[in-house]
Amino acid sequence: MPNRALDWIPQELAALEARGQRRRLEPIAGAQGPVVEIDGRPLVNFCSNDYLGLANHPRLRQAMVDAVERYGAGAGAARLLVGDLALHHALEERLARFKGTESALLFSSGYHANAGVLGALAGPGDAIFSDAWNHASIIDGCRLSGADVHVYPHLDADGLGKLLAASKARRRLVVTDAIFSMDGDAAPLVEIVELCERHGAMLYLDEAHSTGVLGATGGGLAEALGVSGRVDVLMGTLGKALGSYGAFVAGSRALTNWLVGTSRTFIFTTALPPATCAASIAALDVLAEEPERLAHLDALSARMKAGLEALGFPVRDVVGPIFPVMLVEEARALEASRGLREHGYLAKAIRPPTVPRGTSRLRVSLTASHTFEQVDGFLAALRKDDPGGRRTGPRTT
Ligand SMILES: *Cc1c(COP(=O)(O)O)cnc(C)c1O
Repeated sequence: MPNRALDWIPQELAALEARGQRRRLEPIAGAQGPVVEIDGRPLVNFCSNDYLGLANHPRLRQAMVDAVERYGAGAGAARLLVGDLALHHALEERLARFKGTESALLFSSGYHANAGVLGALAGPGDAIFSDAWNHASIIDGCRLSGADVHVYPHLDADGLGKLLAASKARRRLVVTDAIFSMDGDAAPLVEIVELCERHGAMLYLDEAHSTGVLGATGGGLAEALGVSGRVDVLMGTLGKALGSYGAFVAGSRALTNWLVGTSRTFIFTTALPPATCAASIAALDVLAEEPERLAHLDALSARMKAGLEALGFPVRDVVGPIFPVMLVEEARALEASRGLREHGYLAKAIRPPTVPRGTSRLRVSLTASHTFEQVDGFLAALRKDDPGGRRTGPRTT
């Protein structure tokens, strides 16, 4: 007898399909890069988070090969068992220097860090204050913590201040993305730092999209705004601009000592493989030695921003290489994505539940491996494909 207990799934999938919300995997044939091959077709890739173009950089590749030769494929255990490699410590020291903190602690991914660190810092009886558009992993970390969660309107420092002033919780923690992953705008970090100091609240900053991208040395938004020393918990990822995989939390020695023994997503998971740690060290070397990558990314971003503004898309608040091309409805976003693909450009439609209803869009991201011609070509294809009337005014959420 076949088991019929999963029969609800095909129906639910069909319902998602009808709403334009079904998601499908689409394998790329070769390596990550500015042009990827899907279904035998080369497409200029405006979807990746490989902002510095390091995912396929020869130095990262070689560092990984060398690490495999010396240390093997896997760490073999969690850090607290016997998976704690000298290479993990070497990378942590390097990350602490990069972020200008006493200490840093690796996590297997950004998701692990957000899911496990918030709960190590705030629990039942405490309060977490979270921007309404924070990344899903932050939302999950808030839920897992058991703390009271107060969601403040996106970027609204005044709203946050009122919530902080009203809170009588034992410990208070404010958490925000630095650059928001689907909108490309930045947290009002200086105001938030001041509020946290005034109210004695901890500040947790997720620099997933800003590490390697903002600041004079690529340190992130806190570096760019000169407040690194005033953010208690600087979380960053190694799988986006830094090209490989993993994540870290940088801060005081007391903080990382505490997390080693209390963060469940640090304790109960296998340590990062040596090769990815070696790649991250190589990525930090490249970032320091090839500042022209960041400069080129900035120039491309300025070109894209001006081009999208000229087409009437509201991208004024964008501060980095992520651009929301707002199309409002799922069907329009899907149609625009299909049209661009016909012209040879890959820009995926982002729909609910990833973004709020009525804000379906293309998420366009740039990397240092793109050329100005590719950006101009994309803008021309978007113009051709947008006969008018599809653009939106200011967003409605
Ligand atoms: C991507 C992302 C994460 C998760 O990082 P991974 O290393 O990919 O798990 C966390 N926070 C934000 C804001 C992100 O965009």
